[in-house]
Amino acid sequence: SPQIVWLRRDLRLADQPAFHAAAQGGPVIPVFVLDEDAPGDHAPGGAARWWLHHSLDSLGRSLARHRSRIVLRRGDAVQHLATIAQAAGAGAVHAVRHYEPWWQEAESRLGAELDLVLHDGNYLAPPGFVTTGSGDPYKIYTPFAKAMLAEMPPRACLPEPARIALPDSWPDSDALDDWNLLPTAPDWAGGLREAWDVGEAAAHDRLERWAGAVSTYHESRDMPSEDGSSRLSPHLHWGEISPAQVWHALKGRRGEGWATFAGELLWRDYAQTVVCQFPGYGRASYREGLDDIWRNPNRGHLIAEDLRAWQRGRTGYPLVDAGMRQLWQTGWMHNRARMVCASFLVKHLLIDWTFGERWFWDCLVDADYANNAVNWQWVAGTGVDSNMFPRIMAPLRQSDKFDAAGYIRRHVPELADLPDGQIHDPPDEARGAYPAKIIGHREARERALEAYRAAKA
Ligand code: FAD
Repeated sequence: SPQIVWLRRDLRLADQPAFHAAAQGGPVIPVFVLDEDAPGDHAPGGAARWWLHHSLDSLGRSLARHRSRIVLRRGDAVQHLATIAQAAGAGAVHAVRHYEPWWQEAESRLGAELDLVLHDGNYLAPPGFVTTGSGDPYKIYTPFAKAMLAEMPPRACLPEPARIALPDSWPDSDALDDWNLLPTAPDWAGGLREAWDVGEAAAHDRLERWAGAVSTYHESRDMPSEDGSSRLSPHLHWGEISPAQVWHALKGRRGEGWATFAGELLWRDYAQTVVCQFPGYGRASYREGLDDIWRNPNRGHLIAEDLRAWQRGRTGYPLVDAGMRQLWQTGWMHNRARMVCASFLVKHLLIDWTFGERWFWDCLVDADYANNAVNWQWVAGTGVDSNMFPRIMAPLRQSDKFDAAGYIRRHVPELADLPDGQIHDPPDEARGAYPAKIIGHREARERALEAYRAAKA
């Protein structure tokens, strides 16, 4: 009998255990349901919708090589899958397991209705695979990473199914173009098109190029002016490539570069482990006592203005503005800049981290419920790990220390002609149309620490 593959963020054919199992069980009906209600405020944002369109288009073309296709539906995923399965007389629904709270709920609803077979495939190991001495899942990254490393390498990768048998008839499908996932007027996606090739083949091309550069990752990763990280994050988020594939392709490369990179892949697994334990992590602080820092009722009107200046890259701090404009233009931001921009929002501007999480969610092509929340809460000091609030990053010093001049020139063209000595902190007479600092660093730092002390008291 036909086997259904329920696709979500696992848009690949190779090392896709749901596809693999389904292809062995009979004719395959791949289904993707665009469910914009279940995730609530975490329905795919603008940049994610752009990526999703191209990723589905790419996977559809790969399936066409097998004379297969993806059945596209919009609405409640559980209802659509149950209807399709019943009409097709399907044997089972195969899916790669996902840990976002709305997907966990959908999996348990669907599992109660029909034969749902869940496979592990998007992480190096399923959450809970390693546990503390007392048998609990880890909350802290360092011991988690140590325990995981002892269990690596991950499972062996599966090949793309050699043959995907076709069902006798196809269920009805929406047309991808009718979903309007791409922006029309205005078309803001020019920078995204320039920055990215989407899909499984593009992910492997990027990995191949990255294999030649990973040996210097420990030095290059912190330098925003360089192309010093893999840029695999959207491909990993959408499951166009699995972390096991990345690991196995690179693990022969020893040395500090590889070790540091492996540590970042483990951060991705760590974030899932945290979200599995605390499903609301993307919406509310874990350490709620600190929230008073951001609850000053007298600052309502300023918050809207300050938030807008941050979103548009007009804070007057060149590294912050370069990061925020890179995000807006390309759907991605360098990790060092992400940390500086996030710290600036929650500490210099005293704005609640959830506002930053929302903006990143809408703008990032790699917007990921767990990675975004875990990193925002880490910067804000509200998370399960140590409280980082009092460690206030100095954006001007960071810019100089990590040699961000080239990065600023690329993303803040008003400052492109300034010499290295001025570009990190332009003197007033050299700013031209570039805005003055929204708040002085020392003043912001004192204000933040004062708000912190008050919240703790
Ligand atoms: P590389 O440096 O090449 O790392 C390889 C892979 O490891 C990445 O592709 C990613 O999958 C994973 N990784 C790296 N750093 C982290 C990290 N700190 N936490 C979790 N996984 C990591 N990453 C996302 O994928 N989605 C997000 O929504 C996201 N939001 C973030 C928000 C903030 C405030 C901060 C500080 C970081 C956020 N990150 C997020 C983590 C990190 O910035 C990106 O994963 C990284 O910049 C992606 O670029 P890369 O692929 O070149 O990473």
